[in-house]
Amino acid sequence: MGILDFVFPKTCIACGKTGRYICRSCIDKNPSARPVCPYCRHPSVSGATHAGCGKKTGIDGLVSIWKYEGVVKKAILSLKYKYATEMGDELADYLIGLLKVKMLPGVYYLCPIPIHWYRQNTRGFNQSVEVGKVISSAMGWNFIPDLLIKKRATAPQAELDRETRMKNLRDVFMFNPVHRSLFPNLKSVMIFDDVFTTGSTILEATKALKMAGVEKVWGLTIAG
Ligand SMILES: [Zn+2]
Ligand SMILES: [Zn+2]
Repeated sequence: MGILDFVFPKTCIACGKTGRYICRSCIDKNPSARPVCPYCRHPSVSGATHAGCGKKTGIDGLVSIWKYEGVVKKAILSLKYKYATEMGDELADYLIGLLKVKMLPGVYYLCPIPIHWYRQNTRGFNQSVEVGKVISSAMGWNFIPDLLIKKRATAPQAELDRETRMKNLRDVFMFNPVHRSLFPNLKSVMIFDDVFTTGSTILEATKALKMAGVEKVWGLTIAG
């Protein structure tokens, strides 16, 4: 505990209790996301894509931890606008605890959804990089923050309707050629993002990885 903890005591962003930004009782109350197929959203074992729903350059499955509501939604929104290191670490800690008891596909590489260098500079950080790094090290996965490159800046997805979202992102990601040397070991990759809503971001990122030669791609999101 530093001097700042006395001057500005940490309080839970949902209930106001002193001690942590995300208290144990609020996180325990947050409902979990059901394991569903990322395409049709119907239940599936561990979140694997149904045989009839997938396609060649499509995603093989999705692991979402919580429903996008309550303290989790609050934390994700705060992290979007400023990276609060301790809040991000607390969220990652809770997430890792739940991730470790899940049946996961064999994954050895994790990469975050990249943001364009222009936005990275104006906003100063990419919360998926920071949280993804903590998760990878706890899970023993290789963390490759720049496995994908974002080719152009795009309008924020939240401001667009579904169809415009797809157009906004079409072919926006590319496999970073400096990582070619990881093949043939680069067989399976977990893409990390904060929320899975329409899925268009993760699906575009998946396409870029599969076209580069990655065999299996799963998505991992904090909420879905
Ligand atoms: Zn609380
Ligand atoms: Zn399905």
